[in-house]
Amino acid sequence: MTIYRHGTEHPQFPQPQSQTPTQCQLTPQLFDFEYGDCNRKMPELMRARRACSRCPLAPDCLLWALVNKTLTPVGIFAGTTPRQRTKLRDRLAARLGPDWINVLAHQNRAARPSTAMWRQAS
Ligand code: SF4
Repeated sequence: MTIYRHGTEHPQFPQPQSQTPTQCQLTPQLFDFEYGDCNRKMPELMRARRACSRCPLAPDCLLWALVNKTLTPVGIFAGTTPRQRTKLRDRLAARLGPDWINVLAHQNRAARPSTAMWRQAS
């Protein structure tokens, strides 16, 4: 298993970029979310999820957030809460093994990473 230094981005899974500002860049306060915020911040969570559902970066954003765990301990990414991302990582590890990130990277050299990740997580 490859371990990346805390706070560094996995080289094969860079953060997706957009030519135009994304909603999380325009209204970052909506996407500010920690464990246990579900009841307190439900309206903001629902608005963030609606924004993510319309974002063209969502599949790559989710993959980036799952792989780069140390960079995404809080916040909403692709409509997911920190707790949901933990569950998705657990499912990927159960299906692909503890080195699931590198398994995905290997599987996706020829294909789009987000496509195969969605297949594996569902
Ligand atoms: S999908 Fe990702 S990049 Fe797009 S608005 Fe949501 S958090 Fe931002």
